[in-house]
Amino acid sequence: MAEPAPAGAAPRLVDLRSDTVTRPTAGMRVAMAEAEVGDDVYGEDPTVNALEAEVAAMFGHEAALFAPTGSMANQIALQVLVPPGYELLCDADAHVVTYEVGAAAAYGGVSSRTWSAVGAAIDPAVVAGMVRPDGYHAVPTRAIAVEQTHNRGGGGVIPLTTLRELRRIADDAGVGLHCDGARIWHAHIADGVPLASYGELFDSLSVCLSKGLGAPVGSLMVGSAEKIERARQIRKRLGGGMRQVGVLAAAGRYALRHHLDRLVEDHARAARLAEALAPFAVVAGDGTVRTNIVPLDLTKCALDAPTLAARARAAGVLVSVLGPRTARLVTHLDLDDAAIDRAVGVLTGIFRR
Ligand SMILES: *Cc1c(COP(=O)(O)O)cnc(C)c1O
Repeated sequence: MAEPAPAGAAPRLVDLRSDTVTRPTAGMRVAMAEAEVGDDVYGEDPTVNALEAEVAAMFGHEAALFAPTGSMANQIALQVLVPPGYELLCDADAHVVTYEVGAAAAYGGVSSRTWSAVGAAIDPAVVAGMVRPDGYHAVPTRAIAVEQTHNRGGGGVIPLTTLRELRRIADDAGVGLHCDGARIWHAHIADGVPLASYGELFDSLSVCLSKGLGAPVGSLMVGSAEKIERARQIRKRLGGGMRQVGVLAAAGRYALRHHLDRLVEDHARAARLAEALAPFAVVAGDGTVRTNIVPLDLTKCALDAPTLAARARAAGVLVSVLGPRTARLVTHLDLDDAAIDRAVGVLTGIFRR
């Protein structure tokens, strides 16, 4: 929760850039300090082992693997599913092809082909039409990846019915289905879909502890025991074998216990921001705010995104610039109702000027 600023100090910045900016809470720091640890490369860190078992069980899978970042968890999963020279299909705005610095190609030799969709509205027929069979001419498809919730898609939630259709397409084609579930927690809270119902549809998932859940570090890849065994080897190859890392796993376990159900508050605060800003800017994509991300389309505004961000920063409110006319606000654990009130006051003041 947001801590009050000390008396006489300038009020803390209201940081709406991302849900990665949260700091570990007092209770989380106690859990970290008290964590039992061991050498995780030897498989001997009890806190890491407990976290991996808990997260695997949440998604109804056999095993999970702790990784330092969501990017590494995604890239390990993609290497497990797609051999070098084969193809991954995903959204053109997917994190795996937008914000992971070309890792799939650079480290996995993975060729990527993308579809375009508005927000989280995937057309399964389009995906089915893209799958390429084995052969020695075209690039054969080996996996399909989706993002739940969709980050650049404005925090949109892919409906369970769409995911089921994609599972059927993947089965028919004999290819893998991966979920970049950095914010799958938000989809679970927004749509009320049990995590295990998501889990059963995918061959592998990546999930982040360091976004909405508020841990300082950490993600996991989830899958079958066989896939996770392969994943352990790839993680070590990528330099992600860590030692007494139970101190970080403890933060993740604490986050899962204390910060999952409260995401409903972040969603309500995001909706409040969107409503307050509606007279001035449209919500980008399909125009709805389902989770904790508010993407603003400023094409019809006098202000561009860098100007909005600079003026907001001068008044103590930080927002992200995603493009010349696209800004983004994200709610999280370190923002309370008072912080949202301040942001609404500052941002509506800037738009009115
Ligand atoms: C943040 C994020 C990740 C992982 O990012 P890291 O910074 O590498 O932990 C993966 N996918 C999505 C959709 C994300 O938003």
